[in-house]
Amino acid sequence: MGLNADWMQRDLNVLWHPCTQMKDHETLPLIPIKRGDGVWLEDFEGKRYLDAVSSWWVNVFGHGNPRINQRIRDQLDQLEHVMLAGFTHQPVIELSERLVQITPPGLDRVFYADNGSSGIEVALKMSHHYWLNQDQPQKKRFITLTNSYHGETVAAMSVGDVALFTATYKALLLDTIKVPSPDCYLRPEGISWEEHSRTMFAAMEQTLAEHAHEVAAVIVEPLIQGAGGMRMYHPVYLTLLREACNRYGVHLIHDEIAVGFGRTGTMFACEQAGITPDFLVLSKALTGGYLPMAAVLTTNEVYQAFYDDYATLRAFLHSHTYTGNPLACAAALATLDIFEQDNVIENNKALAARMASATAHLADHPHVAEVRQTGMALAIEMVQDKPSKTPYAWQERRGLAVYQHALTRSALLRPLGSVVYFLPPYVITPQQIDFLAEVAAEGIDLATRSAVSVSVSADLYPNHRDPG
Ligand SMILES: *Cc1c(COP(=O)(O)O)cnc(C)c1O
Repeated sequence: MGLNADWMQRDLNVLWHPCTQMKDHETLPLIPIKRGDGVWLEDFEGKRYLDAVSSWWVNVFGHGNPRINQRIRDQLDQLEHVMLAGFTHQPVIELSERLVQITPPGLDRVFYADNGSSGIEVALKMSHHYWLNQDQPQKKRFITLTNSYHGETVAAMSVGDVALFTATYKALLLDTIKVPSPDCYLRPEGISWEEHSRTMFAAMEQTLAEHAHEVAAVIVEPLIQGAGGMRMYHPVYLTLLREACNRYGVHLIHDEIAVGFGRTGTMFACEQAGITPDFLVLSKALTGGYLPMAAVLTTNEVYQAFYDDYATLRAFLHSHTYTGNPLACAAALATLDIFEQDNVIENNKALAARMASATAHLADHPHVAEVRQTGMALAIEMVQDKPSKTPYAWQERRGLAVYQHALTRSALLRPLGSVVYFLPPYVITPQQIDFLAEVAAEGIDLATRSAVSVSVSADLYPNHRDPG
């Protein structure tokens, strides 16, 4: 057996992998990774893979980044961890100061969790608890957009709407209010993103008018609905939403776990709408993709509603054991240094333009309904029938065929159902972008060339997204 095969067998003996039907691995090889270097991952036999999806959207400055490595090493020599209740430490204070500084004005308090889903739970609980502390216990529901994704814990799933991840657990979920997404893939022909996003806001306005009295917050993924297939919309929707939330007395939660830290072309997506949400949830790229951590930023107004004598029981008694872990904070501080020192947001403009030009021709492909882009995220939607945008049956797993082809060409291009996308680390080169575009084009040709024979039974999950 080769080295990869050894590790694969040992893995399959004991592991249960995330978001995976383990039986797939009877035919689909697992890829054991030995080391990483920049945009490259390398297996145990020396084969390399270009990480086009930033290892699930976290890695922005490459694997094994020397500056982040060094900062973590230095921190390791000082302090690996201390509990954050009753105690504090230098990296968490510095990181909080910097997050307050670089996020939109008004977000002056930082609460930490240790992964994105937990960060969402914090925002949901804090919002409802704020209203409790204001003697408005009836404000306990949440408004969310269709096709949203906010994580895998039960409350986070409740405000999500990607059936693949939530339908099974329906019996466990909170009762939330769903409003049709401004998703511009679904706009009528000849209508601009801005017009469509404005039009779609009418449903949100109406829902707020009807339900504001019982609603704590509206939660959205700003500009890009990631796990829902990289569906995108115009910032005007967020501007209108901010104004309406103020008018109706409802919090606005921005889940920028995936889009924060430059992905949409600005450091944070809310900048493009010129607004400040009441809660901003950050994770994923926060630590450069090194260590799990989430930050929930909120306003002093929210903070003050909890600030009282202990016996009033108004405090936010929520904690995660690894809250504010010093090593994760050190990785985050190094990440913020790189953003600052390397003029990253500005330099990304050229890379984003290269992603657009390298893939533009795919819009003419007979089985590509759309090539869409927001900043450093670009998605290619494969369809069975282009004029009617009829999707492929999810059981056909067309995206998986692209994934498998890409692996043979040394690229990690893990699609979302029939959506092939690039969400590369910002240290990718223009040549590497061209290479990815070439591999994606080949993969899409192969995946769409022939009929796939699957027994397509009743579609249980209308917006089912095969994770590939
Ligand atoms: C990944 C993601 C989450 C969940 O974060 P985890 O760290 O995986 O729990 C929540 N919201 C969005 C938009 C995400 O992309």
